[in-house]
Amino acid sequence: MTVTAMEGIRPMATEQLAPPINAWDVAQQQFDLAAEHLHLAPGLRKVLREPKRELTVHFPVKMDSGSVEVFTGYRVQHNLSRGPAKGGIRYHQNVTLDEVKALAMWMTWKCAVVGIPFGGGKGGVIVDPKKLSIREVEGLTRRYATEISIIIGPEKDIPAPDVNTNSQTMAWIMDTYSMHVGYTSPAVVTGKPIPLGGSEGRNEATAQGAVYTLMDAARHLGMELPKCRVAVQGFGNAGAIAAQLMAASGSKIIAVSDSTGAIYRPEGFDPNAVLSWKQEHNSVCGFPGTKDISNEELLELDCDILIPAALENQITARNAGRIQARLIGEAANGPTTPEADEILYKNGKFLIPDILCNAGGVTVSYFEWVQDLDRDFWSIDHVNEKLRAIMTKAFASTLDMSLKEKVNMRTAAYMLAVQRVADATSVRGLYP
Ligand code: NAD
Repeated sequence: MTVTAMEGIRPMATEQLAPPINAWDVAQQQFDLAAEHLHLAPGLRKVLREPKRELTVHFPVKMDSGSVEVFTGYRVQHNLSRGPAKGGIRYHQNVTLDEVKALAMWMTWKCAVVGIPFGGGKGGVIVDPKKLSIREVEGLTRRYATEISIIIGPEKDIPAPDVNTNSQTMAWIMDTYSMHVGYTSPAVVTGKPIPLGGSEGRNEATAQGAVYTLMDAARHLGMELPKCRVAVQGFGNAGAIAAQLMAASGSKIIAVSDSTGAIYRPEGFDPNAVLSWKQEHNSVCGFPGTKDISNEELLELDCDILIPAALENQITARNAGRIQARLIGEAANGPTTPEADEILYKNGKFLIPDILCNAGGVTVSYFEWVQDLDRDFWSIDHVNEKLRAIMTKAFASTLDMSLKEKVNMRTAAYMLAVQRVADATSVRGLYP
């Protein structure tokens, strides 16, 4: 009895002791693999392997109680060879400089894989915004925007929403920046509310782009979306809208989750009703007719399509072998580690990598920036038609590369993207 109990405990203890996975290590490993396949020159490898700029700011915010708290934030610009930096701002208690560096590097490749003229950037603040009042979040946002204003601007670096930030956050940043420069500058951020120069379709763009790639992948694999059962991890901008769009295309949503847990019903449920439930109860859990399960269980469910749409390092060497979905669409950034990639590929899983799958967000952000600079407004049909064309072309090029080079879809997307950035970097030459 005692031995059995100890044996039961041992693996858990080992897992708990496993060092946390560092997103920057993952990003560099992914880059190294592509650089190796491309036989990239050693000098270029050194340049592309590191970010160009890393800004760390510590800034005070007056809290509702009258006390002053000091917060830490970052803005990283990875590579600017193909255009100004572009990338979201994340508010989360676990933000680290290494995480922001990884996210900035991923943005460089993402912009290149869909062929839009931006480099990669990313920002983050170490904070759990759910513990702050709206007024405190506004104060934090305006002061953080002021601190990073030395490197952002419509021609320099254009932030957008990410985890726990939204169109209101972007409105505050746009207003703060505009107050500093003395004129209204809509093009300094994207993902703004429509009345401030936001674009039709931006709110849904990340999910819409992911669904376009899932449709193309399903066609390639001979899967029929109306017969597919889908599990979605994360129920925010990317995840909830992806669930709604997949349901609209006929798929059955059988599980969704948020940071509080997951819900499951093998017969499927209406994600629109879950969204209303979450708005009322601050959690997807407890939605009538579903069973509460854990986020780990959701990933391993018997389903056809899995959409990770939360945070990094969710599919690792530990659970990759138990993933049952045939098709995985990474709406989140960095949800799969390199070891897990290998296991999934060996097991015949088809994975649409983050830099391709969720590139719809930055693509419509690019449309928003163009509309702001041109003082123009496009219709939703025009936005989605252009988005569809870009996503379909990027998917087809990645699939071709994957089949030609016999590499998985991530390495194929990296090879396309890294080559484009390497070409731009080398043709510009080395200054001075
Ligand atoms: P969000 O804040 O709108 O939603 C995040 C969701 O994930 C929330 O439902 C939250 O409860 C859930 N979550 C947090 N921790 C979790 C955990 N441990 N397990 C399960 N769920 C958890 O953020 P978002 O904008 O939807 O971003 C989600 C992912 O998509 C991130 O990786 C982000 O970088 C990526 N992404 C977002 C955009 C965009 O335009 N918003 C674009 C490209 C990529």
